[in-house]
Amino acid sequence: MRNEEILYERKRADMVKRQIESRGITDKRVLAAMAKVPRHKFVSEAMWDQAYSDYPLPIGEQQTISQPYIVAEMTQALELTKDDRVLELGTGSGYQASILAELVFKVYTIERIYALYVKARKLFDNLKYHNIVTKYSDGTYGWESEGPFDAIIVTAGAPSIPQVLLDQLAMHGRLVIPAGGKQSQELIKLYKDENGIHQTNLGGCRFVKLVGEYGW
Ligand code: SAH
Repeated sequence: MRNEEILYERKRADMVKRQIESRGITDKRVLAAMAKVPRHKFVSEAMWDQAYSDYPLPIGEQQTISQPYIVAEMTQALELTKDDRVLELGTGSGYQASILAELVFKVYTIERIYALYVKARKLFDNLKYHNIVTKYSDGTYGWESEGPFDAIIVTAGAPSIPQVLLDQLAMHGRLVIPAGGKQSQELIKLYKDENGIHQTNLGGCRFVKLVGEYGW
């Protein structure tokens, strides 16, 4: 292994221990994925030394890659198993999708900004994430032809929870979405079963806007 890779592997182990395990994330598969995916590759080279810090970073086009802890918290909340098919809205850098790709059978991810979509697609190919399917469009419509999904994750803040996404959620499916105002939101988890939709609030958060038909 090259020296640089050893350095980043150490930084990742440290990130998992100090930022993620210490704040109560216990899902072993999630911790292993966070320790494995090379987060620095998802930001510009000028920011590689900050890639494992405890905050979000800019990824261009006025968008951001979430803080590592938020990625871990949302991923754990999805309660993923290896046969799951997951839909993500807001590909961004592709980091969250790559974490998901480590944990499930197939990831479907949608991005509305062309430059980010192209960049993430190339990165998935370079890193050999062959189980990630990408799409350039307004994700607030979901991806009906590929649904229903075992889990859906929205990585941009929505004004409310789009009904189409609930419709594309499989029985016993989980949806995690930041919903609320333009500046700050609540992280909401929804679970679908025979009795309907069950909602839990995971706490306050700050995401960039979900822009589109059922967004802002
Ligand atoms: N998950 C990303 C972080 C995304 S930031 C990562 O791991 O890096 C939020 C992203 O959602 C931005 O790239 C933004 O362009 C995208 N977005 C906003 N509204 C969208 C929509 N309606 N459909 C698809 N993507 C959207």
